[in-house]
Amino acid sequence: MYAKRLDNLPPYLFAQIDALKAQKRAEGVDLIDLGVGDPDLPTPKHIVDALCEAARDPATHHYPDYLGMLEYRQAVATWYDRRFGVKLDPKKEVLALIGSKEGIAHIPEAFVNPGDYVLVSDPGYPVYKTSTLFAEGKCHPMPLLEKNNFLPDYSAIPKDVLKTAKLMFIGYPNNPTGAVASMDFFEETVDFAKDNDIIVVHDNAYSEISFDGYKSPSFLEAKGAMDVGLETHSLSKTYNMTGWRIGMCVGNAGLIEAFGRVKTNIDSGVFDAIQRASIVALTGPQDCVDEACAVYKERRDALVSGLRSLGFEVTSPKASFYVWMKVPDSVEFVAKMINEAGIVVTPGTGFGASGAGYVRFAITRPVDRINEAIDRMNECGIRG
Ligand SMILES: *Cc1c(COP(=O)(O)O)cnc(C)c1O
Repeated sequence: MYAKRLDNLPPYLFAQIDALKAQKRAEGVDLIDLGVGDPDLPTPKHIVDALCEAARDPATHHYPDYLGMLEYRQAVATWYDRRFGVKLDPKKEVLALIGSKEGIAHIPEAFVNPGDYVLVSDPGYPVYKTSTLFAEGKCHPMPLLEKNNFLPDYSAIPKDVLKTAKLMFIGYPNNPTGAVASMDFFEETVDFAKDNDIIVVHDNAYSEISFDGYKSPSFLEAKGAMDVGLETHSLSKTYNMTGWRIGMCVGNAGLIEAFGRVKTNIDSGVFDAIQRASIVALTGPQDCVDEACAVYKERRDALVSGLRSLGFEVTSPKASFYVWMKVPDSVEFVAKMINEAGIVVTPGTGFGASGAGYVRFAITRPVDRINEAIDRMNECGIRG
């Protein structure tokens, strides 16, 4: 009854964890959920107000433009210029997405033939792999190892893989490792992509969530990046808008055109009222972003110092809202955390084979809950 491509999919990690969480809650456990990367903070009021106003205008009630309202694409271009100094033609180099997950899920449809290799960061956002499988491509995992600062080692990719590699997925600030990438790395990526005729898709979902004065770059700032790549981004993490479903794909005009053809045939765009509110988000005051980062920083510091006080070795991330921690056995650790301490964290293996031996904490809960999690770990004897 089912198509083979469904059998090929790995089980969706969060679905399994959701089932276990539901079971624990049914048993009356007060779970501290540091599992899912969904901000607990609300969308800033001026953005919600803009949505309400736009939704009352009947002009927004029709099918949207497939590629996004020109005004929205213009706002994205303005934001990219202001934030990264990257100049984009809103008509040819910007596309609206129904969240960056949608973009990542559909990009391989435009570029990958059955049997082509896609180079996929491992550990990585699970959709890089599943979108490749839907397009009947083959995944070649690029291990992100601590000794390489969680950057892929392009020299380790076999020649025969490179011959039929069509696309690669990378993303910094990185989910799940919390690692960041330098401009040197992005320039090395451009050279590698040009030498091997590979399209780069850089997932920049966390560029605005950073601490201690660190500012994340865009891949498109790298010299030559516009020749080889696309960047996906979204309002989800920047403005606490995960439920709204809006993002953007920007980059090389030819690639945008091809991907746009896929989207035109699959979806009918993003509700215009959401696009209008997103224009307000991108072009309006940005203090809300700084305020959110200050909240995450306090939580990050509480979690990192708490884990260190328990004897764990852990790096304090400069960006993203994830703390990636080494443990002897990730699946065993996660089970112990949920069963004994009522704390949900994500096993590294859920992000790929190279995530084995790590767990991911998401700092998407208030600082008092994070402190309570540390207390519970201490009481349960969960130490490094
Ligand atoms: C959250 C996330 C996304 C998807 O976000 P959208 O809400 O679909 O825009 C993409 N990539 C990574 C790495 C993420 O963590």
